[in-house]
Amino acid sequence: MSVPDDAVVRPGARMDEPLARVLGERSAAPLAKLGLRTTGDLLRHYPRRYSEPGTLTDLASLAIGEHVTVMAQVQQATVREMRSRGGAMLQAVVTDGSRNLHLTFFAKRRGALRVHEQRLLPGRTGMFTGVVSDYRGQRQLTHPDYQLVGVDADDEAAALVEASRPIPIYPASASAPTWRVQRCVRTVLDPLTDADLPDPLPEQVRARRGLAGLREALGLVHEPYDDDQWRRGLDRLRFEEAFVLQAELARRRARTAQQEAVARPRVSGRLLDLFDERLPFTLTAGQREVGSVLAEELAGAHPMQRLLQGEVGSGKTVVALRAMLQVVDAGGQAALLAPTEVLAAQHVRTLRALLGDLAEGGFLGGTDVSTRVALLTGSQGAAARRENLLDAASGRAGIVVGTHALLTDTVQFADLGLVVVDEQHRFGVEQRDLLRAKAAQTPHLLVMTATPIPRTVAMTVFGDLETSTLREIPAGRSGVTTHVVPADNAAWVERAWQRVREEVDRGGRAYVVCPRIDPDDVRGARRGGDDDGADLLAEDLDAGVGIGDPADGPGAGGLPARQLRSVVEVAAELRARPALAGVPVGELHGRMGPDEKERALADFTAGRVPVLVSTTVIEVGVDVPEATVMVVLDADRFGISQLHQLRGRIGRGSAPGLCLLVASAPDGTPAATRLATLAATSDGFELAAVDLGLRREGDVLGAAQSGAASSLRLLRVTRDAQVIADARADARELVDADPELTGWPALRAAIDQQLAGEREEFLDRA
Ligand code: ADP
Ligand code: MG
Repeated sequence: MSVPDDAVVRPGARMDEPLARVLGERSAAPLAKLGLRTTGDLLRHYPRRYSEPGTLTDLASLAIGEHVTVMAQVQQATVREMRSRGGAMLQAVVTDGSRNLHLTFFAKRRGALRVHEQRLLPGRTGMFTGVVSDYRGQRQLTHPDYQLVGVDADDEAAALVEASRPIPIYPASASAPTWRVQRCVRTVLDPLTDADLPDPLPEQVRARRGLAGLREALGLVHEPYDDDQWRRGLDRLRFEEAFVLQAELARRRARTAQQEAVARPRVSGRLLDLFDERLPFTLTAGQREVGSVLAEELAGAHPMQRLLQGEVGSGKTVVALRAMLQVVDAGGQAALLAPTEVLAAQHVRTLRALLGDLAEGGFLGGTDVSTRVALLTGSQGAAARRENLLDAASGRAGIVVGTHALLTDTVQFADLGLVVVDEQHRFGVEQRDLLRAKAAQTPHLLVMTATPIPRTVAMTVFGDLETSTLREIPAGRSGVTTHVVPADNAAWVERAWQRVREEVDRGGRAYVVCPRIDPDDVRGARRGGDDDGADLLAEDLDAGVGIGDPADGPGAGGLPARQLRSVVEVAAELRARPALAGVPVGELHGRMGPDEKERALADFTAGRVPVLVSTTVIEVGVDVPEATVMVVLDADRFGISQLHQLRGRIGRGSAPGLCLLVASAPDGTPAATRLATLAATSDGFELAAVDLGLRREGDVLGAAQSGAASSLRLLRVTRDAQVIADARADARELVDADPELTGWPALRAAIDQQLAGEREEFLDRA
């Protein structure tokens, strides 16, 4: 077969070919519904598992209404005329050895059923796909799509071989069942050669790690003859994913390290010194240590690129503020990017409170070295916005705090020297870069996260950042005790509300967290109740692995019938509870206007409304030291990290915190295990490790984190630590020798492909 010209001119062009052209519209259409549009898409659509030809599916586990793919053996098939309705019916029985499943086909004429009759011979095995229904107590599939093992080969010898090969099971759909995907993959892959598939992995790396070439690996994965083959193929493709990502991270790191930044050395006798003098507490050893690392990097001529991770309440804000003040003292400005409006507003309050008259620059009473803290959010009024924009552009505001609104074109800085991103997991790399682009020279960057990040994740997601960690919690905290309260135990639940009452009577505050805003809010915990998306879908964790492909059926693992508690409902209920008689109960959720939210939080902070019923909008960073108790309803709906973040909102003052997780998770379920783990430990790093073991990859990395993360198909940061470390070492070596990868076009192409969403950004900066 001759290679088309464009493949010679542009290596990898075959990968971009539309499937409609290669396979024809009819075969391509169902694939497009799976998101597969090009040859490359299809070849990178890897099997989710492999089925042994001889192994039958346990039919006992079939659930009515589920879309399933089962491997079973034909026991009998009979065709009969239907006298009452007219027409004919074929009924086949397939078995897993102990249980049966009926397959039913209807037709107008008996003859139309002959194909099935001839194929569904007793003793043959096959895969059958359809939606399970119940007919007179019998499980059945009506008009199932099916594929018989070894039957469709050309001759008997080939059939025998075919029948013994592992069967790739693809993520599939009703219109594109797994064997049809398999057939398309073969059609597309078989004619391709090494020349059509330029390998992003350099020969030297493949040799060192003993890895297959790309063409070979794709063959092994899609058309294996035994288990070793597909394993070897997957090893290679997994390494490739890690390597491509690490190569890009190394390239970014190298680029930024070469860039110039304005040095912002510490100036004595100004804001930072005055601030330190007034600080009402002493910095922890960790805060001091990280502080001096930051101080030194800010004073350097290359941009700082640092990730600061620290437990909830470990005092990251003060550390960041001190860095910002150093920059302001040196004549620059700092921007603080927060994920929600509530948080941005709170940051402004906190900074102003910490700074006192140091934040009254331009106002009467401000000291001669004072500055201003400006706030920019999407929803603020035109007048306020104009004034804040002016403060930022003129340089009058040394510190500018904001949400995504900070990223818009209208926001300008006089001299942006430092960008601080709070709670990174809500911000993408792209957004971080947009903000950095607002400075004449690359500003210094500090990213903060309260979610402890295991090393492998840090290497994968933040590979271009250096990491610092705050491990200790400031002294004087009494910590949080966590208990699980069974939702169906009325006495315990009543006791929980009494505890809330007791805390309120003592001057404390209570959060009550619900998964939904109101009873009509269908999305519930799924989206976390606010502009900040939930970082974990608890129901994903519990979705039982159905028979065949869980992804086969829509609705698999859908919400159970149980009604989730909502903010509106629960607030009304609490106002009527005798235990809370006379206690004002407030509400906070994402559908309230910014002023309303602000007011609710202010009332809560001041103690005018000591009970706040809320969605997870309070999950990140809200700081009310008097908050001592938190009741989480439907706690089994939330993930470990999310609950850990949530309870970090209490016990921040000197009084101990109490967290009550109300849930109806039966013993032994994953949800019950998660809650028990939370009750047993408060070590964020330990929880992160447990969480990592339970989560799906996409959730770990967070789709918003970077285009890179969502491109990972095979790599599991939970499991592939060694692969990541090896790939990183090899990638760094390559980039050290050739920073722009000029000698590695296939690798560059793979980077562009894998990081498609970010491509423009790279080009801008190149
Ligand atoms: P986080 O790391 O979760 O962002 P914060 O910076 O909000 O934590 O700090 C939590 C609380 O601890 C704040 O009220 C802050 O003022 C206080 N804090 C910070 N550092 C110290 C310290 N060294 N000693 C006592 N309290 C501190
Ligand atoms: Mg914080």
